[in-house]
Order: sequence, then structure tokens, then C-alpha cells
Amino acid sequence: MRLFGTNGVRGIVNRDVTADLALRLAMSLGTLTKGTVAVGQDTRTSGSMLSCAAIAGLLATGCKVIDVGIAPTPAVQYFVRDNADAGIVITASHNPREYNGLKLIAADGTEFGSEEELAVEDIYYRDAPKLADWRETGELTHVDILPAYIKGVMQNVSASDIAKRGFIVAVDTGSGAGSVVTPFLLSKLNCKVTTINAQIDGTFPSRNPEPTEDVLTDLGKIVVSNGADLGVAHDGDADRAVFIDENGNFVNEDVLLAIVVKHVLSKKRGPVVTPVSSSQRIEDVAEAAGSHVVWTPVGSIHVARVMMQVNAVIGGEGNGGIIFPEHQYCRDGAMTVAKVLEIMTERDRKLSELVNEIPKRYMDKTKVTCRDRDAAMQHIQSSVHGNVDTTDGVKIWYDDGWLLIRPSGTEPIIRIFVEAETEMRAHELLELGINMTKGC
Ligand code: MG
Repeated sequence: MRLFGTNGVRGIVNRDVTADLALRLAMSLGTLTKGTVAVGQDTRTSGSMLSCAAIAGLLATGCKVIDVGIAPTPAVQYFVRDNADAGIVITASHNPREYNGLKLIAADGTEFGSEEELAVEDIYYRDAPKLADWRETGELTHVDILPAYIKGVMQNVSASDIAKRGFIVAVDTGSGAGSVVTPFLLSKLNCKVTTINAQIDGTFPSRNPEPTEDVLTDLGKIVVSNGADLGVAHDGDADRAVFIDENGNFVNEDVLLAIVVKHVLSKKRGPVVTPVSSSQRIEDVAEAAGSHVVWTPVGSIHVARVMMQVNAVIGGEGNGGIIFPEHQYCRDGAMTVAKVLEIMTERDRKLSELVNEIPKRYMDKTKVTCRDRDAAMQHIQSSVHGNVDTTDGVKIWYDDGWLLIRPSGTEPIIRIFVEAETEMRAHELLELGINMTKGC
């Protein structure tokens, strides 16, 4: 039995994710870590409940705990890297309102990998936390980590050049943890800021925490009516940032990643890292700049760890989660906002003009239900030929596109992703993928 899914421990509050689970998980981590652990949370209603339980568990095993309160996940990671031996972030990221979870952070600020998770799980399931002697239970302090984090972001962009532009920016932090950082960061960058949904509220009254195009129509209207240069929105824990151009149009996340990759490679050479599900447009811009892409399994921890191994200059996912290695090895929404402003400043282009520089490609996806995912994937793998990549699922490269078939980690379904140079070809590839999974 696994406690951790693809994104830490997550589920519905007081059904799957309870105070008892947080307490015992924190005791298990504390038994393993024996040091200083930072605990932060996003804005969910159950944040205090789970945070208090996790803090109690850590203190019981003798850890020193630094409660950093409500903060974006990347702000906690930034703090852990320099100040703690581990971290716990109480967050369910982009999941709906009723969810919450615990994300564990390693001493270097990256998310826990599966080996570290297994070590914690082992203690958890054996019910073997080692409680401290009464003289040695831990002590609790509180630290405001946000000023140092905002400063850290500003140090990694040309802040004074951005400030001279006086950008007009509309921000929708979705009542999530980005509310305590991004509006203030933008003000420090001399932007004229308009916010919506920037009041902290764990009921997420205006929109779900996932910043999809369909829930950002208000933001698009505000961008246009205010004559803003751009709009930006975060997910619940602000490790992701998505953008609206000056005309009110949503910017595809893969295109945004391609814009950032192109900009970074114009300044320095080196590998680019992204999961196999990302757009070929990342490769288009990397190869045009004389660089190359290293493809990883899906999941930001894989991207971060491979970036470290190959000394990548930039990496990220096609969902608005971008990793800037000079800053830290994790997705960082505030850093992405600052970097996009830097690109617009240095290139002297509007956001829509930067979008238009990226090659056109068409992506599509679907899912099919499947009883035995492993057997189905084995069958598909043995029946395909040609340029096949099995980094994560089965990805088949064609001259004019690709097809990726991969099993879900948590549900009895198989996902099919395609991308091609024309919409018609993308549709053909999707049909081909559906046919390949027939009878599963
Ligand atoms: Mg997130």
C-alpha cells in the first residue's frame, strides 16, 4: 500500500487526509530527519488543522520546527534549502476546494523523490516513529519567510530595467498562497497592479484553484479594460503561473515555456529539460538555438533532478510550472512572472508578439478506460516500431508529430496525447492511439 501518490499525499479532507494522518506522517518524517523542519501551508480551510497536527508530530520526535505560515510552496522550498533539514507544505496545489495534502521537501529544497517517500512510508506503516525523551521534545518558532523569498526572486531578474518600464499587470491569485507574494513582488518591480481574488479564502469563492482558461475570463476582461500589458494567475500554492496577453487571450502553457526557453538560450547554452508530454515546440526553439532537449518522465521532481544531473539552463512542464536553476530547483510561479516581465523588457515586445514567434503546432489528448493497465502497456510496447521512446509510457515519434500513450498512476485509465503540424494530422494520431488501446 502506498501513502504517497504522484504529488505527495493528497485527498479529501477528513476522509482521506486527516489530522491523525498528518500527525503520524510527521512523526515518521521526524524519526528519519532528526533536525530542523519548516512547515508551511496554502490557504485551504483545513490548513491550520493539518499544520498543527504535523507540527505536533515533528515536535514529538524531537525536531525543531519553524512554522512559516501561509506561503507559496516555492517560498517554503527556498527557505528549506538554506535554513532547514526538511520541510512539509500543507497543500493540495491545483486540486478542488475539498482537497488537501502534505508535500515533503528535502534538505536541498527539492520535493521528496520516491526513495525518500518509501523510507517515510516504511516507518509510517510499521508504526515505528521514535518519540523523544521528555527533555528533548522539539521547540517551535515562527519566521516570516516572504521578504527574503521576494528578494531572492528579484535578484535573479533585471529588476531595475523592469522597473523602468512601469508595466500594468492584472493578477488573479485565486484566493491561494500567491496572494501573499505576487502582488507585492509586482509592486516592488514598479508595476501598476490590479488584483482580483487576492483575499486569502480557503473556500475559493470565485474560482477553483486550478488556473484553467475557462475560469480566467474575468481576468482577461480586466486586462483589456485596464489596458494592461498582461494578466497572470496562479494555482492554489503558486508554483505555477499562467498568462493572459494584452488582448485578453490565454497563453498556452507550452508556448509560454517555449518563450522562456528561447530567451534563456539566447543568453547561455546548455540542455533544456521537460517531460515527454510537453510540446515539440520546446525542441523547436532549443534546436534553433543550437541546444537540445532531455525528455523525462512526467512529474516536476523528475524534471528537477534531471536538470541537476545534466546541468540544464532551464526546464519545466507544459502546465505553467517552470524551473529556473539559478534561483532554485523547483517550479516557481513568482519567479516565472518576474522572468516574463524581464523578457518583455529586454526584447521590447508585447506578450502576444512573443507568442507569435513560437512555431505553430496542434496538441490534443483523450483518455480511455482500461482494466489492466500494465498488460495493455506491454502489449502496446511490443506492437510498435520505429522511433519509440519509453521514458514514460510509450511515445512514438513521426516525421510530422508524435503520439504518447501512458497509464494513469492512480485511476484505471490510459491517457493518449498527440501533437502534429496540422490539426487534421493531430486528429488522425489521436484516432490511431485510440485504436491501439482497443480491447484493453
Ligand atoms: Mg501547484
